[in-house]
Amino acid sequence: MLTRKIFIAGNWKMNPGTSEQAKALAKAVREGVGSASEVEVALGAPAIFLSAVSESLNDSPIGLAGQNMHWAKDGAYTGETSASMLLDSGCTHVILGHSERRHGMGETDEQVNRKLKSALEAGLYPIVCIGETLEERESDRTESVVAGQLTGSLAGLSPEEMNKVVLAYEPVWAIGTGRTATPGQAQDVHAFIRRTLAARFGEKTALIVKIQYGGSVKPDNAEELLGCPDIDGALVGGASLKASDFLGIIEAGRKVSVAR
Ligand code: PEP
Repeated sequence: MLTRKIFIAGNWKMNPGTSEQAKALAKAVREGVGSASEVEVALGAPAIFLSAVSESLNDSPIGLAGQNMHWAKDGAYTGETSASMLLDSGCTHVILGHSERRHGMGETDEQVNRKLKSALEAGLYPIVCIGETLEERESDRTESVVAGQLTGSLAGLSPEEMNKVVLAYEPVWAIGTGRTATPGQAQDVHAFIRRTLAARFGEKTALIVKIQYGGSVKPDNAEELLGCPDIDGALVGGASLKASDFLGIIEAGRKVSVAR
C-alpha cells in the first residue's frame, strides 16, 4: 500500500508585520522541527519576506511557499510576482486559488489553471485550494462545487503533472472562523476528491496526490483530522503564526505518521 507522507503547510497570509518578525517565526519553527523527516513542512510567507525567510530556513528540510503568483513569465503586470521570482526568492512551493483570492479578489478556476501550469513548468510544487461556501454546503452542492473547481483548476494536466500537485480542501466556512469541519465531514469530501482524481487521472495518480485539509486546524483538533485515511496533511492559517501551535500540529502529524 502506498503511504503518502503527511504535509503540514503554514499560510501566514498578510502577516507578520516586519521581516524581523517573519525571520524569528521561521527560526522558531526551524528549531522546533530540527532534522525530523517524518512530516513534510512548508511555510507560506508574504512575497516581500520570502528571501529573508529563505535565509532563516537555509539547510533545513522546511519548504517555502509563495501565497500567489502570476501565470506570465514577465511583463507589464504591476504588483505581480512570477514563478521564476518565487524560485529566485527560495520558494519550493506556491499556494494557488486560496479562497481569500477566489472570493476576495475574484480569482477564477481558469486563472488558477493558468497559474498552475506556469508553476509546474517553472518547477514549483503547487498547493491548489478548493472548497465550498456555507451556502453551497447548506444547499447540498458541496460535491458539485468541488468537482467543478477540480475540473476547471486542473484542466489539461497529465497524470505525471498531477502527481506533483498538492490539493488543499478548505471549506470556506471553516477558514479563520474557529469552526472546523468534523473529521467525518472532511473525510467524506477528501474521499470524493480522490475518487474524482481516479476517474480523471487514473487510480495510481489518485493514490499519489496529497490532499491537505484546511480550516481552523489547531493543535487540539489536528490529530483527529490527520488520522482520517484520505487526509494527508493540513494547510494552516491562524495557528501557523504562533510557532508553538504550528509545532503542535506538526507533532500531531508525526504521531499519525508513526501510526500509519
Ligand atoms: C488558510 O488560510 O488556509 C486557513 C485554513 O486559515 P485558518 O487555519 O486560520 O482557518
